[in-house]
Amino acid sequence: MSKYNFSAMPDAQGYFGEYGGQIIPPELQAVMNDIDRAYEEIRQTPEFQQELKTLFADYIGRPSPIFHARRLSNKLGGAQIFLKREDLNHTGAHKINHCLGEALLAKYMGKTKVIAETGAGQHGVALATACALVGIPCEIHMGQVDIEKEHPNVVKMKILGCDLIPVTRGTATLKDAVDSAFEEYLKDPQNFIYAIGSVVGPHPFPKMVRDFQSIIGAEAREQFLSRFNALPDYLVACVGGGCNAIGLFTAFLEDEAVQLIGVEPGGKGLDTGLHSATMTLGKPSSLHGMKCYVLETEDGEPMPVHSIASGLDYPGVGPQHCYLKDLGRAQYETATDQECLDAFMTLSRVEGIIPALESSHAVAWAIRNAPKLSPETRILVNISGRGDKDADYVANLLGL
Ligand SMILES: *Cc1c(COP(=O)(O)O)cnc(C)c1O
Repeated sequence: MSKYNFSAMPDAQGYFGEYGGQIIPPELQAVMNDIDRAYEEIRQTPEFQQELKTLFADYIGRPSPIFHARRLSNKLGGAQIFLKREDLNHTGAHKINHCLGEALLAKYMGKTKVIAETGAGQHGVALATACALVGIPCEIHMGQVDIEKEHPNVVKMKILGCDLIPVTRGTATLKDAVDSAFEEYLKDPQNFIYAIGSVVGPHPFPKMVRDFQSIIGAEAREQFLSRFNALPDYLVACVGGGCNAIGLFTAFLEDEAVQLIGVEPGGKGLDTGLHSATMTLGKPSSLHGMKCYVLETEDGEPMPVHSIASGLDYPGVGPQHCYLKDLGRAQYETATDQECLDAFMTLSRVEGIIPALESSHAVAWAIRNAPKLSPETRILVNISGRGDKDADYVANLLGL
């Protein structure tokens, strides 16, 4: 018997311990509570369950396989490394799991438009894909600076038929895109829905996005049991907002022998100020409608953060991760930009798998720790996405 009861999390107010909640004005709380009620009602229905299940299988291509990285494990000479291949999903990453869930929920709720912001464009592409499939209008706000940097994703979003809104105010980057998207949402929150891109924001989003992503761990648990009649010893995933990690961890929370490791961006080094190690160096505070660990400046503003992986540079983190850290149920460690680059190249050349720079943080942890562990130990690393989007950047950096 586990001493925890995680299935009851979050509570009715959206708290995981002291983290989460709805730190937003009362009018918005009412709108969020409507979404929560609709979600709780709809997700129990056989129609919704069946539709999601069919799309996970036939559209995303689930279950994603688990691959034994034999050559990498042998080269390191320690624990056996296994990879959960979310990079093989349609659109190339785990984000499609919750974007499909959010788009379906929007359709069932009769919403007329799905709104979101995007930074590097990964969330935008996954959401535009899901909305095209479900047949619901989608509006993505993106900073002009990012639009110029992220050409392939911008083109994909346009092809997929979403309304791409360039944001030119402020620094014309992610933060301004969030403000712009949120203003649009507030024009008609009854008919619009704001699709949050990770396990962050006000309740019920950390819960809903977790539920949609928990398919990753549910599959992995079954796959391990049927193949080895045992669970993995370590689960390792990168943490930005934290949705691929919580998706992997959820089915294993009460299996106390399974160690849960989240890997944050150590950037150029924790002592340089150029990192995004929210759990490692942040403090409990509030951000984007939730209580969580936050990297803040001395005057209480969110810190500018840095990572080689643009999907991980966020000064907050999902509330459930904060709770798991305080309980000691999960450990949060870091990998630097350099370790991440090395891991990117190593996995590419030893296994023929080009991981996303985000996922490379988790690979870096495995490369660092596997040699210290026995060959009977099994490490399962979540490859949250594929590295095609990062290939040009890395090739330029390394002069290939
Ligand atoms: C967006 C992204 C992440 C970070 O998001 P989480 O919510 O922390 O999972 C990680 N990996 C890939 C490939 C991404 O696109």
